[in-house]
Amino acid sequence: MTDLHRLSIRELSEGLAGAKFSSRELTEHYLKRIAKLDTQVKSYVTVTAEQALAQADAADAAIKAGTATALTGVPIAHKDIFCTQGIKTTAGSKMLDNFISPYDATVVAKGKAAGLVTLGKVNMDEFAMGSTSENSFYGATANPWNLGHVPGGSSGGSAAAVAADLAPFATGTDTGGSIRQPASFCGLTGLKPSYGRVSRFGMIAYASSLDQGGPMARSAEDCAYLMNVMAGHDAKDSTSVGKDVDDYVANLNSTAIQGLRIGIPKQYFNVAGLDADVKARVEESLKKLEDMGATLIEIDLNMTEAYVPTYYLIAPAEASSNLQRYDGVRYGYRAENPIDLMDLYKRSRSEGFGAEVQRRILIGTYALSAGYYDAYYVKAQKVRRLIQQDFLKAFESVDVIAAPAAPTTAYKIGANLSPVEMYLGDIYTIAVNLAGLPAINAPVGFDKDNLPVGLQLIGNYWSESQLLSVVHQYQQATDWHTKRAAIAEENA
Ligand code: GLN
Repeated sequence: MTDLHRLSIRELSEGLAGAKFSSRELTEHYLKRIAKLDTQVKSYVTVTAEQALAQADAADAAIKAGTATALTGVPIAHKDIFCTQGIKTTAGSKMLDNFISPYDATVVAKGKAAGLVTLGKVNMDEFAMGSTSENSFYGATANPWNLGHVPGGSSGGSAAAVAADLAPFATGTDTGGSIRQPASFCGLTGLKPSYGRVSRFGMIAYASSLDQGGPMARSAEDCAYLMNVMAGHDAKDSTSVGKDVDDYVANLNSTAIQGLRIGIPKQYFNVAGLDADVKARVEESLKKLEDMGATLIEIDLNMTEAYVPTYYLIAPAEASSNLQRYDGVRYGYRAENPIDLMDLYKRSRSEGFGAEVQRRILIGTYALSAGYYDAYYVKAQKVRRLIQQDFLKAFESVDVIAAPAAPTTAYKIGANLSPVEMYLGDIYTIAVNLAGLPAINAPVGFDKDNLPVGLQLIGNYWSESQLLSVVHQYQQATDWHTKRAAIAEENA
């Protein structure tokens, strides 16, 4: 079969189970596409062809033996932030260019246990800091919809790989939008689960109170399959939650659109810098949901102006603490010929970290320093609580909250926005992380340059099934999620 890359996860699952094709055929098909097309997309940092084929053969044996799960033999790409035993894990940084983890992240281990075949590790902004994937030691990844544009970030490699049909789905992580924004820029569906729903064990830390892994795929249905693997309590992550997981696939039609109350925050649609096409496509998608029976209710989220400053204190503060471990001594990059220990520390960190990471370490260390701790860090924590309360108040009168995922479509590669301009682009995503809420991006059309636009739906805690269900039904009634970038149409 030459069009295996067009199949949904359900079709792959059924095709493998019904012996229409083998996991080896499917894996070889994807490896061929990667070899042919990823020279242009540059989504993979590491392709693990040999291991993938061995896993595929094991999957085929399991399918024959009747011990397969729904996903046995289905290929996946992992964001290069998830530790993979015996395979390089770089987090997009020179600091970890030589790092081979002695263990698997829980998400990776669960994927293996479910029989997923790892195609490789995909590119990202260094330590997940950024919105374009240009902050990677391995260079920029291209947006499959227009190779001169960025795929978004930080999970830009995950998004580009899926959008170019170089993986059927991928893992991502979202600290301030890094699943939703690249999904938006690449025309994909991406779910950021509630904080604590997916284990962070073995997921290289950026800002621990905000980081959360989740699925990136072509549809809500595909995301649901991956959520069934990723979600769940993990004794190795003390912030993971003991709450029962849903069967996200079985729940795809569990939420009625009829009567669904969708909150439209007044403040969100008056943001300076909200692109007219983005606004129009998002409004059209909401109109469609209204036609399907939902009620649109205008709401207030009064803390909107505080999102960017609050996030850009808390996230760098936690990052500066998490990144202390990269000292050139235990693992990672080590400067050559140090003259003493201090020189080793200084040069290892100066040479090993890129500019954006260093900027955030400086901001974070400053905000945590003795004289400024109360004025910046403690204040930001208080504002964070107010932002959370603002959402909880809104959820008293609505079921979900709608927003764009980003104020614009994908930037040009090399657009060279200032750090502040870049940070302002995170306005619609970061509050969700500050509050620990789940949110999903769904593709809802294109701008005048044929770049994808995304609708974000934010839910109350543990409403992942509801978000997936709403988007699934929207996708049953529309075809935006079936559109493919030209490069994805090419055969290998
Ligand atoms: N763009 C945001 C940042 O640079 C979010 C990144 C993320 O979610 N990892 O911090």
